[in-house]
Amino acid sequence: MTRPASITDDLLRRLVSRVPSTSGGTWKLTEVYTGEVLIELPQSTPADVEAASAAAREAQKAWAATPLKERLAVFARAHELIIANQHTIADLIQAESGKARRMAFEEACDPVMVMSHYLKRAPKVLARKRHAGPVPVLSHSSEVHIPRGVVGIIAPWNFPFATGLSDAVPALMAGNAVLLKPDNKTALSPLYGISLLEQAGLPEGLFQVVCGEGPEVGPTLIDNVDYVMFTGSTGTGRFIGERAGANLIDCCLELGGKNPMIVLDDLDDAALDDLMPSMLFAVFANTGQVCMHIERIYVPEGMYPTFRDRFVAAASALRLGAAYDFGPEIGGLISPDHLARVQSHVEDAVARGAQVLCGGRARPDLGPTFFEPTVLEGVTKEMLHGTVETFGPVVALHSYRTLDEAVALANDTDYGLNASVWGTDIKRALAVADRIESGNVNINDGLATAYASKGTPSGGLKTSGVGARHGDQGLLKYTDVKNIAVLKKQVMGPTAKQTYDDYAKQMQMSLRWMRKLRLR
Ligand code: NAD
Repeated sequence: MTRPASITDDLLRRLVSRVPSTSGGTWKLTEVYTGEVLIELPQSTPADVEAASAAAREAQKAWAATPLKERLAVFARAHELIIANQHTIADLIQAESGKARRMAFEEACDPVMVMSHYLKRAPKVLARKRHAGPVPVLSHSSEVHIPRGVVGIIAPWNFPFATGLSDAVPALMAGNAVLLKPDNKTALSPLYGISLLEQAGLPEGLFQVVCGEGPEVGPTLIDNVDYVMFTGSTGTGRFIGERAGANLIDCCLELGGKNPMIVLDDLDDAALDDLMPSMLFAVFANTGQVCMHIERIYVPEGMYPTFRDRFVAAASALRLGAAYDFGPEIGGLISPDHLARVQSHVEDAVARGAQVLCGGRARPDLGPTFFEPTVLEGVTKEMLHGTVETFGPVVALHSYRTLDEAVALANDTDYGLNASVWGTDIKRALAVADRIESGNVNINDGLATAYASKGTPSGGLKTSGVGARHGDQGLLKYTDVKNIAVLKKQVMGPTAKQTYDDYAKQMQMSLRWMRKLRLR
């Protein structure tokens, strides 16, 4: 297989040259389709992390003092630069993750959408807001949002460019510096994205990157930043949250899921045909390595045989392949280790009585990490795939008798990241959505509609996370708030001639009148 022409040795060397490593240690970053080493990625030591944080902190002072309009202008230019270089970005994402071109291209759209949204919204959200004070007319208070300082971002491998950049954009717009730790396997695309931000005018030093295994560099990173934005597994999220809590800093944790899909009984054959490509995307997009992808499907008993046959036929027809073009619909998994994990979930299910309706096999003939789209039946909660996030192209079909049963089954999980409901009557589907315990619910789509709605906060309930990205909340979380209050004349307290009893009575009367007149 020929590596894309855009990925030259010179580009790779340039990209990793900004990663500090005083120890000189490196990690072999490989092209997933071939297993060949692309570049020796420098590994940062805890001392390197401290130095990177100090440099970021220094650069942040001038950036915070730069008018918001000038800060935003950098992102208006970066928006264009990312679109202009989208194919190189997709090449890098594919090389380091093994995903299909279609997904790599979609991923490269994400920071652009985030930039567009906050370019419009940030001036309003970050503006100083005046509120009434305790004494009408004589007092007022202002809500002032100031940057937190250095924001630490710890990112996973499944969407390295999006999680490396998109979460940094609002942090930077708000006046912070960023210290990013990408996953070792997928450091190239975020490094390239940062070089584009700098080309667009982001001051050097403001966006620092350190690389290393999570437990080696993660704790020092958390100890040297003012806020942590973490995306990854629930297990690691617990550690991050505890460490941030011990340091009395805030954090946002975007974690795993075991996401259900409920098919309603009013979907007729034609609607099912129309929606089938979106249903397949909901399950198999990014080879199932999406935190919001569907791993459980609940279908009305009467529709189950038809649905199963069509879904299995459509899943079996998906085109897998290793190619740096838009041909294959499904790419590889991130690594041979992850393939072994996905395979072990399928083998465990089969050993405990589940049936494989299609797929269930690795495809070494296509590349070292390919696994066929797999549909299972008869999965129970005793099986790994019944409760644990498989994070691969594997889904379990279930039938249900009543809607109450379907909702109960959908909610029968510790996770609460994403869900989807499919039906012709949107009002009815929305009523079901209201009953699902999940931070995101998509109607007649699997995941993209909620995730791409950048104006609406998106996060996880239950063990799927704390806090949210997107929406005003996704920008304000990167700020500390100051309450600056003004009293024009001191009237709060008894006058010289007043007893405290009289003052107390006057105060009670004032409180009643202020409520009646809606002054407070
Ligand atoms: P992971 O938790 O193993 O790793 C995520 C990041 O944390 C990596 O950069 C890793 O190096 C780092 N890390 C690991 N241990 C650490 C430690 N002790 N201290 C600090 N950092 C540490 O997750 P993963 O396997 O890379 O990613 C897949 C998981 O991410 C899945 O569970 C998926 O659902 C979740 N995810 C969630 C979202 C979301 O928005 N909710 C998005 C993408 C992925």
